[in-house]
Amino acid sequence: WRASKIEGSFGGLQDADRIFTNLYGDGDWRLKDALKRGDWDGTKDMLWLGPEGIIDDMKKSGLRGRGGAGFPSGLKWSFMPKKTDGRPNFLVVNADESEPGTCKDREIMRKDPHKLVEGCLVAGFAMRARAAYIYIRGEFFNEANILEEAIDEAYQAGFLGRNACGSGYDFDVYLHRGAGAYICGEETGLLESLEGKQGKPRLKPPFPANKGLYGCPTTVTNVETVAVAPTILRRGPEWFAGMGRENNRGTKLFCISGHVNNPITVEEEMSIPLRELIEKHAGGVRGGWDNLQAIIPGGSSVPLLPKNICDDILTDFDALREVKSGLGTAAITVFDKSVDVIGAIRRLSHFYAHESCGQCTPCREGTHWMETILNRMEVGDADEEEIPMLEEISRQIEGHTICALGDAAAWPVQGLIRHYQHVIEDRIRRKGDWESEKHQYFQKS
Ligand code: SF4
Repeated sequence: WRASKIEGSFGGLQDADRIFTNLYGDGDWRLKDALKRGDWDGTKDMLWLGPEGIIDDMKKSGLRGRGGAGFPSGLKWSFMPKKTDGRPNFLVVNADESEPGTCKDREIMRKDPHKLVEGCLVAGFAMRARAAYIYIRGEFFNEANILEEAIDEAYQAGFLGRNACGSGYDFDVYLHRGAGAYICGEETGLLESLEGKQGKPRLKPPFPANKGLYGCPTTVTNVETVAVAPTILRRGPEWFAGMGRENNRGTKLFCISGHVNNPITVEEEMSIPLRELIEKHAGGVRGGWDNLQAIIPGGSSVPLLPKNICDDILTDFDALREVKSGLGTAAITVFDKSVDVIGAIRRLSHFYAHESCGQCTPCREGTHWMETILNRMEVGDADEEEIPMLEEISRQIEGHTICALGDAAAWPVQGLIRHYQHVIEDRIRRKGDWESEKHQYFQKS
C-alpha cells in the first residue's frame, strides 16, 4: 500500500504525484468514485501503524501545517496526551476558511470530501481522539451538505463509528456550521464558538493540547493538513519528503487570483518559483509579467511584495519569510499596474478593523486608526509625518494582542510602508493632481 515517487522535475508536479486528483470535479465526489481514486484503501493498515507510528511517519514526511502558521504537523500531533486522565482527546478540523483570496479547503470539501473524512480518522487515531469536529464556515452551505453526505456514506460503509474500518477503534465525526465571523478561524475563537459561545479568542496558555474543547485536550488542524495525511501514509513519508526542498516538503494547494488570465486553485510542488507557478497554471499576469506591480503571496495577512522581489522568489515558507512576507495560506493575489496599492491595503485594513473581536485595545482601536489614516493617505489628504506614525501604530499592535489578528492587520500596512513609502509621499505631495488623475481613470474605465 505504499508506492514510490514517480519521477518528476522540480516545479513540474506530475499527475501521478497529485494528492487531490478530483480537484476540478472530473469525477463524482461520492464514495463510489472516491474508492476508485484510492481513498479508504488500506486505512486499516495505516491504523495498525499505531499512533506513534503514524506520528513518526508524519514527522518524516516533513509536512507543515497548511492553515498558515506552517508548524510541523507530526510534532503538533505529538503534543496530545498519551495517557488519559479521564478527559477524552478531540481533533477539531478548522474548515472556517475565510482568509481573503483563499479557497483551497473549499475545493477539497466540494470535490474530494472523502480525503478529509478519511484524514479525520487517521489523524484522530494518531492523537488518540475519539471524535473529530469539523467546524465549517457558515457561508459554505453547499460544501456543508456535501460533507455531511460524505460523512454519512463513511458511516454506512463501516469506515466510521464503532470498529471503524474493522480496526477495533471507535471514532465519530461531527460537522458544525459557523455563523460567518472571520475570527472563528483563529483556533481558540473557533473552540469558543464550537462550545456555543461568542467566538472570542482565548489567552494562551493553557494551549488547546492541554485544555481545548470543553476543557479537554484538543488539536485544531487545517482541512488540507488532515486531508493529505492518508495519502502520505499510503505512499510513504519518503515520497512526500521527496518533493520541495529542505524544510518545505511535499505538494501544496495554491489559490491564484487577481490580475491573472486564469484564476485557479492548483496543487503544485512546494518551493516552485512564484513566476513559474503563475505562468504555468494561471495563464500569466494580465498584460504580461512586465505589467506586474505586486503580489500578496499568502492570503491577506502577509506583506505584499513588489515585482522585483517576485521575479525570482521561491514559493515556500522559508523563502518568503526571508523577504519579510510569508506563505500563509498560499493564496496568491496578483496586482497589475492598474492597482492603487494604497487603496488596496486601505481596503484590507477596513476588513481587519471590521473583523476585530474587540477584546484587545491595540487591535480594537489600532485597526481603526490605521484604516482612518490610510483613508486619507489614499486621496493624498495626509501629512508626511503620518507615515512613521502609521508604522508606529502597526508596531504597537504587532505582538501585543491575544490572537494573531492584530499581527495580520499590522503586517500588510508595514509591507506597504516598506515597499511603497515613495508612492504615499508622492500622493501626499500632489494631492490635487491625484484627484484629477483618479477622476480621469474612472471616467476612462
Ligand atoms: Fe480580538 Fe483582535 Fe484581540 Fe484577536 S487581537 S482577540 S481579534 S481584539
